[in-house]
Amino acid sequence: MKAEDLHSYYCEDCEEWTCIERLEFPGNVHCAYCGVADVNISAVDYERLKEWVRACNESI
Ligand SMILES: [Zn+2]
Repeated sequence: MKAEDLHSYYCEDCEEWTCIERLEFPGNVHCAYCGVADVNISAVDYERLKEWVRACNESI
């Protein structure tokens, strides 16, 4: 598992990154430190997420 394979979210409250291996619930990610739900997805993962959503839509 490379670091690039992890999805990272930034929590402004604790200024920590939450890294998750599998993006099962992209819209429902919580900070691993304080549990807040409104963590910010990284720009790289935002692009990945768009790709992922597009791939899902195309497979329907
Ligand atoms: Zn937090």
